[in-house]
Amino acid sequence: MKKFLSLALAVVMTLSALLLTGCNAVKKNNVDAIKEAGKLTVFTEAGFAPYEFIANGKIVGVDIKIMEAVAAKLGVTLEVSDVGFDTIVTAVQKGKVNAGAAGITINAERAEKVDFSIPYSSTAQYIIVPADNTDILNAQDLAGKKVGVQSGTTSDLLFDNLDVAVAELLAYASAPVAASGLGTKVDAVVTDKLTAEIIVANNPGFKTFALNNEDGTPVAEVEEYGICVAKGNETLLAVINEVLTTLIADGSIDAWTAEYTDLANELGQ
Ligand code: GLN
Repeated sequence: MKKFLSLALAVVMTLSALLLTGCNAVKKNNVDAIKEAGKLTVFTEAGFAPYEFIANGKIVGVDIKIMEAVAAKLGVTLEVSDVGFDTIVTAVQKGKVNAGAAGITINAERAEKVDFSIPYSSTAQYIIVPADNTDILNAQDLAGKKVGVQSGTTSDLLFDNLDVAVAELLAYASAPVAASGLGTKVDAVVTDKLTAEIIVANNPGFKTFALNNEDGTPVAEVEEYGICVAKGNETLLAVINEVLTTLIADGSIDAWTAEYTDLANELGQ
């Protein structure tokens, strides 16, 4: 009985600690707190053109334009930090930052930790291989190969569920860094479509195509990107969704996607 009581107490304490963290995360990051601070803080990972990348020493891209519009709507300045992709969701969950904007695919596992905006872009998994490669045509051909991915991304997590015994799955800080090892450290790189196409446009020695199974079916469902906020941060999510609805409807997201793809290609990202 005593054992049961202390176990029950431990469960109650853990649950209330979790609840408290959640409440604090919302309180610290809701619209009132942001307005009081005078700035909107956002985590991203700036190796993911056209959504976020470095141009002339500055972080630019579609996600940055979106968050600039959100900051303008709130009447505050925007502060974007470049961090490891695999740290963003947890930082947002814990309330260390107001929002995460990094071409983040909305999925069930992440949605347990954070709340997502409406989707604003969609993508598919693409594979990059050396242009003269002839033996990797589909996911099953990756058996026995070294595959590079960006750590913590859906491209990385994909291999947990894929029934293919790769020789090694190497996790890098970004897809361009993974791709720089193509032909030497890795045989193939898997990443999201537009990022793969930009990497290939800037590296004539590479080619890219959709990563399908040998029967032609895609290895993953269509993925959609969302901006994430702390769970229950309804005030901030409402503003983000309002801004996104306008930007999708008036063609801004499409225009920025084209504009920043061109810029990334120009800069050789
Ligand atoms: N969309 C992918 C994911 O969410 C990759 C995002 C990224 O690399 N920035 O995992």
